Amino acid sequence: MASYRVRSIVPPPPPKRLLASIHDVSPRFEGAVDRLRDRLHVRLGDPSPGAMRLAMFVVPDFWDEAPLAAAPAFCARLRGWADQGVEMLLHGWNHRDDTAHAGRLAAFKARRMTAGEGEFLGLDQAQARSRLLRGRNLLEDILGRPVTGFVAPAWLYGDGARAALADLGFRVAEDHVRAWNPATGRVLCRGPAITWASRSAPRIASSLAFAAAARHLLAPLSVVRVGVHPGDVGVPAILRSIDTTIAALRIAREPGRYGDLQEEGTAPVPQAA
Ligand SMILES: [Zn+2]
Repeated sequence: MASYRVRSIVPPPPPKRLLASIHDVSPRFEGAVDRLRDRLHVRLGDPSPGAMRLAMFVVPDFWDEAPLAAAPAFCARLRGWADQGVEMLLHGWNHRDDTAHAGRLAAFKARRMTAGEGEFLGLDQAQARSRLLRGRNLLEDILGRPVTGFVAPAWLYGDGARAALADLGFRVAEDHVRAWNPATGRVLCRGPAITWASRSAPRIASSLAFAAAARHLLAPLSVVRVGVHPGDVGVPAILRSIDTTIAALRIAREPGRYGDLQEEGTAPVPQAA
C-alpha cells in the first residue's frame, strides 16, 4: 500500500522584519543624520554591495528655517541615498504645531506630548491636504521617485490629517503603536516602536529602560520598528542602546521595508448568506 508523506504544502512563515528609520531628516541636522546613517548602515548590515535598507523621515522645511529648496547639495544626497535603497517618507512640512487647538484635551495633548511639534494634530482636512500635497510634490521632485508614505511629526494625527491622507492615496503611515494603509484603513503592523528621547535626564533614563525591555518583549512580533533622532547623537548612552537594540533584533530579523508591509487580514471576509 502506497504511503504518502505530507510535506512542503505549508509555506514557511515569512521572515521576521526590523524596520529602522531616521526621523527629522533635514539640512538643519545634516551632521547628525550622517552619523546616524553610518551607524545604522553598519549595524543593520549590507543587503547587497552599496545598498542601504533603512528609512528616512524627511521634513521639507524644519521650523520654517531649513528649506530643502535652499539646500541643493543636501537634496542631491537625499536622491543618492534613495538610489541606494533608502526609503523616503514625508515627515510633516515644518514639524511645528502652529494651530490654536479647540478643546482642552487637544490642547493638552499638543502641549504635553509633543513639545509643540504635533504639526498635523490640529489641521483641518483642507490644511492637511495642502501641506501633504506640497510636501509630496517637493520631495518626489527631489528624489525622482514616489515617496513610500507619510509620518506625522510626534506621530500625532488629527481627523483632518487622516482624511487627507486617505484622500491623497498615501499607502503607508505610522504612529507609535502601528503602521497602516490610509488608503484602505487596514493595519500593516502592530507593536510599539522603539525610540529614544534625549530632551531630559528622566526621559533619557526611561527610554533606555524601555529599549532594554522591548528588544526582548517584542520578540514574538513579525515586525519591530526602531526610530532614531538627530538629538540621539549627543547622548553616548543612547547610541550604545541603539547599537545593543539593533544587534539583539538582528539575531532573528532581517532589515525590511515599509513599502513591503502586507495588510493584516487580507483574506476575504466570509459573507453571510
Ligand atoms: Zn519628527
